[in-house]
Amino acid sequence: MSDGLPPLREVVRAHGLDARKSLGQNFLFDLNLTGRIARASGSLPGVTVIEVGPGPGGLTRALLAEGAAKVIAVERDPRCLPALAEIAAAYPGRLDVVEADALQVDLAALAGNGPARIVANLPYNVGTALLVQWLSGSEWPPFWDSLTLMFQREVAERIVAGPSRRADYGRLGVLCGWRTTARILFDVPPAAFTPPPKVTSSVVRLEPRPSPLPCRITSLEAVTQAAFGQRRKMLRQSLKGLGVDPMRILSDAGLPATARAEEIPVEGFVALANAFDAARET
Ligand code: SAM
Repeated sequence: MSDGLPPLREVVRAHGLDARKSLGQNFLFDLNLTGRIARASGSLPGVTVIEVGPGPGGLTRALLAEGAAKVIAVERDPRCLPALAEIAAAYPGRLDVVEADALQVDLAALAGNGPARIVANLPYNVGTALLVQWLSGSEWPPFWDSLTLMFQREVAERIVAGPSRRADYGRLGVLCGWRTTARILFDVPPAAFTPPPKVTSSVVRLEPRPSPLPCRITSLEAVTQAAFGQRRKMLRQSLKGLGVDPMRILSDAGLPATARAEEIPVEGFVALANAFDAARET
């Protein structure tokens, strides 16, 4: 990649960007790898990308070099801003840097009217919280048309899990499976990062389902929380805390009372959420 910018190791040294664990900072310096992640989000020319946590800018540079029309990069660590300003100068008008906590900022407003893609090597400490936020909006389809995200492999497995991967299947798998199609694209070994994390990471891509099965998200959360909160128990037992008759909502949802949470597919939980709503209303 010939963007005329210095190698990332040099950038980090010049700006004193020693990685901070508290900010989930594990940087990628290999521009071949960041290029691969950028391309995994699909063809980029003409596209607006929101990147969370650009850090010294390895993935940012790849997204721009691959042709993204605009990258809006949200970074919490002010120490990274001078390095990102150098990238913005190399790609005039194509990089906006926003100093903010991505959990607090309104990304939909930043994205403007057109469709946006979210691409990020997420900080591990807030990655799941950000994903849940992006999947829980009241507007659906959402403001983003795909998410291409790096997670710890173990979290990636929970994102794509269904009843056929029981050990990994839980509330996150139900939420992701309800509103999106999700798949793991490839793994990234610890040695690719500076400093190296303890575990393997994976790049995951999620695309919104245009019409998820109708149900109220708060009710889906309530039933999955009760069911997976006691995942070894049968549903007739684990759903007792919901304040409605578990046998009634299981029967209305067409589910066996002796089943356990990890055996129930997403459609079953949606039916259960709707039965829960109906039982509360009568
Ligand atoms: N994208 C860079 C790369 O691939 O080398 C850095 C990735 S590093 C895993 C995560 C980045 O997210 C860090 O730059 C960190 O400062 C930033 N970060 C951490 N928490 C954040 C938050 N709540 N909002 C925005 N950025 C955050």
